[in-house]
Amino acid sequence: MPDELLQRLQRFHSDTFPGVQEQFQNLVRDGQHPTILFIGCSDSRLVPYLLTGTGPGELFIVRNVGAFVPPYDGSAGYHGTSAAIEFAVLNLQVSRIVVCGHSHCGGIRALYGEVPPAAKNLAAWLELGREAVLPVLPSAEALRRTEQRAVVLQLERLMNYPMVRQQVDAGRLALHGWHYVIEDGEVHVFDVRSGRFVAATEATHSGTGPYLPPEPGMDSPVFNEIDASYGAKAGGPV
Ligand SMILES: [Zn+2]
Repeated sequence: MPDELLQRLQRFHSDTFPGVQEQFQNLVRDGQHPTILFIGCSDSRLVPYLLTGTGPGELFIVRNVGAFVPPYDGSAGYHGTSAAIEFAVLNLQVSRIVVCGHSHCGGIRALYGEVPPAAKNLAAWLELGREAVLPVLPSAEALRRTEQRAVVLQLERLMNYPMVRQQVDAGRLALHGWHYVIEDGEVHVFDVRSGRFVAATEATHSGTGPYLPPEPGMDSPVFNEIDASYGAKAGGPV
C-alpha cells in the first residue's frame, strides 16, 4: 500500500520547494522577523495563512484547543502557549497578537458537555474558557456567542502578561480578537469600544482600534473599556 503521507513529502521537495527555495534560504540567512503572534484554535478548518494572505516568515503561530491563553502566573503548569507569548513579545518583538476562535468549535461545545474521563488534561484546559459559558442550553446562537466571548476572555488574560501590557501601553503592540465563521469565509473582529464583533468586510480596522496607547498622564484605558463593554459577562453585548 502506498504511503500517501510520504508521497506528499516527496512531492513537496520535488515540486513545491524549488519555487520557494530562495525565500526560505533568505529567511534562514536573515533569521525570522514575524510581526504577528497568531494564537489560534487547533481546528483543521482554521488555516491562518489563507485567512491573512501570509506566507513563510510572517506569522509566529501557536495553536491549541479553543485558542485559549493560560494565566501568566504559571498556575496552569507547564505551558507552551505561555512560553510562545513570552518569546514572541520579548524576543521577536511582535507588533500584533491575534487570538482567533471560530464557528463550530469543538472546544467551546465541550464546555457545555462532558469530556472522556481519561482526558484529564483536556478537562483542565477547557476551564480556561469556562467564564465565557452562558447559562443557557447550547443552541447555535449560544455557541456562537460563547465562541466570541471566549476570544474576549483570552484578550483580557493576555493583558495580565506584564510584557504584553507594557508593550500595549507603550503603543507598540496591538491585540486583535477574531472569530472566524468557517462557512462564510468571514472573520469578525472584536471592537472593544462597541463591545461587538464586526465582520471584517464591514470593519474599519482589524481589531487594533481599541488598543490605542493611552493619552499622556492617563492610565491605560484598555481594561476600563473592556469592562465597560463586557462587564455584564452573562448577557453582555458580546
Ligand atoms: Zn476550535
